[in-house]
Amino acid sequence: MAYSAALLDFKKGKKKVKIHEAGIAANIIAIVNDIAHQNGLEIIHSVEIDIGAFSGVQIDALNFALSALTPQTNLQNTEFIINTIPIVLFCQICKNKYVADIDDLVCPGCNCADFLVMNGKEMIVKSIAGEKPADE
Ligand SMILES: [Zn+2]
Repeated sequence: MAYSAALLDFKKGKKKVKIHEAGIAANIIAIVNDIAHQNGLEIIHSVEIDIGAFSGVQIDALNFALSALTPQTNLQNTEFIINTIPIVLFCQICKNKYVADIDDLVCPGCNCADFLVMNGKEMIVKSIAGEKPADE
């Protein structure tokens, strides 16, 4: 129920972007619930997520989506910690490895933009902290 209501809210805003992040947030929630179930966690205190700066995910929109999708669920008190992973590129021309900004991907060594992405595309649920039922 909360899920469809949240999606309706997204449709009022910037359409595609918000729906994109809502889908990712729903995926994250599904992954967290799977892991919690597998490990017998009843209460989940925090979830740490790595999002690459080159993944196309807007952190603000993802935070908003998570806060819209979790009320009245088992994750309503869970803290979501989102780490932004910097973009690291490998220049195929001069073999330089460099940290780049999403708005400036050009190699500082040779001014080319012929690169492989080493880091920055990841979307990972990195860790989950929770509790098992007390009397186990
Ligand atoms: Zn280069």
